[in-house]
Amino acid sequence: MESVYDKYEIVIGLEVHTQLLTKSKAYCSDTNEFGAIPNTNIGPVSLGLPGTLPKANKTTIDFAIKLGLALESTITEQMHYDRKNYFYPDLPKGYQITQDRTPICTGGKLLIKNAEGEDKYINITRVHMEEDAGKSIHDQDPYDTLVDLNRAGVPLLEIVSEPELKSSTEAYNYLTEVRKLVRYLDICDGNLEEGSMRCDANISVMLKGAITFGERCEVKNMNSIRNVQRAIDHEFKRQIDVIENGGAISMETRSFDAVSGTTSLMRSKEEAHDYRYFPEPDLQPLTLTTEYIESVNKIMPPLPNALFKKYTTEFSLSDYDALNLTESKDIALFFEEIIKETNNYKAAANWVMGSVKSYLNQNAIEINEFPLSAIKLVEIIKLVDEKLILNSTAEQRLFPALLANPNRTAQQLAEENDWLIKNDLDELEEIVKRILNNHPTEFERLKNGEKKLIGFFLGQTMKASKGAANPKTVTQVINKLI
Ligand code: ADP
Ligand code: MG
Repeated sequence: MESVYDKYEIVIGLEVHTQLLTKSKAYCSDTNEFGAIPNTNIGPVSLGLPGTLPKANKTTIDFAIKLGLALESTITEQMHYDRKNYFYPDLPKGYQITQDRTPICTGGKLLIKNAEGEDKYINITRVHMEEDAGKSIHDQDPYDTLVDLNRAGVPLLEIVSEPELKSSTEAYNYLTEVRKLVRYLDICDGNLEEGSMRCDANISVMLKGAITFGERCEVKNMNSIRNVQRAIDHEFKRQIDVIENGGAISMETRSFDAVSGTTSLMRSKEEAHDYRYFPEPDLQPLTLTTEYIESVNKIMPPLPNALFKKYTTEFSLSDYDALNLTESKDIALFFEEIIKETNNYKAAANWVMGSVKSYLNQNAIEINEFPLSAIKLVEIIKLVDEKLILNSTAEQRLFPALLANPNRTAQQLAEENDWLIKNDLDELEEIVKRILNNHPTEFERLKNGEKKLIGFFLGQTMKASKGAANPKTVTQVINKLI
């Protein structure tokens, strides 16, 4: 039976705030660090004391340009800062320095996967620079709200998408791509749980095929990408229920509760602030020359989509492999190190995604803590490629041995442990003969035509040679001795 929800479609636009990984704050030299003792990184500017003057942090501007270039946005050449005025206990100045009329980046697009797994571009409206407010802490004192101003003045980039996301899955994928991108660019650690990346979701519904969008609600307070998806799924049904019951959606801000998975009203449009934006008089307008933008472009790191394309086209790796390799920049760079020294891309990919990743998972460490250099993996890959060692022996024995002795070479360890493939036929014949004699009944049955026993003797021989024999050669020798 068709459900009433099937009559509607959803429209989503996301506003993402990313806290930047600068050493100091956006407009003064106070330290920008997460988790410091409350109210320790707060000089006169962070406190908004009268008479203090802000000074723009150049790194913030460079980060914004990097992001804009990665999103293929237009970088604004002439811009200024604006004041957004409102009163709140965690905002000592009484205004936030932001960009209203002249965001540093306009336009641009981000490639995501839609719910069917196909490519889809989401257009970016704008990216602008602003500063964070302090933090009101409601759960540490039974009576009072406490204020920590360490976060006041931390630089943010706000990324606003066009209302083009058509499902909660697309929103999920969009946020995953944004997070991957800011991590590749090294501008934000993308940690939604700690709030260094935050997302407000604007959500509306309309009858399928309608031309005019419905009225939207803005939902806040989701601390994971999964929770953004849950909030959207809830909001979709809630809004339709309202409409189907004869009501109307009004523009409002709602808060998501992760425990119940529902949203509740924070403030309606009537209570909306008039921020009285005006140009910030204490900061000079900025001019970004083409040369300056180009100088930032020169130091851009490799980006996930470009690497993905290289891996799938130049290296002929599968989409699955390429996606896995580019999921994190550090993994991709490790892979890049390996393939500087070998053209066996598939083997390199298998090692990184197989043995290396399992080791990282088992030990709960990141690739930068991995004990082996990329060169060690190159050594292993070459031994296998030259048919000097079986891939299974390399995985099961040589790889662990190297982990235990990261300063030895793969060749040394393989030789010392007798893991190199024995192509010495005489020696192999000796082993096979011994085994045949040790199992006279089976040998008799094999001679009488029970061919499946070849597998048995092959297994015994491989075991005796500690996996160092070439199974093809062993089979030949057995057949010869029957
Ligand atoms: P505001 O300051 O009112 O929040 P912004 O420009 O910062 O406005 O953000 C508006 C966001 O809402 C954008 O991401 C935009 O795509 C989205 N949006 C606008 N209209 C709708 C709509 N009808 N349904 C869903 N999202 C919408
Ligand atoms: Mg908004």
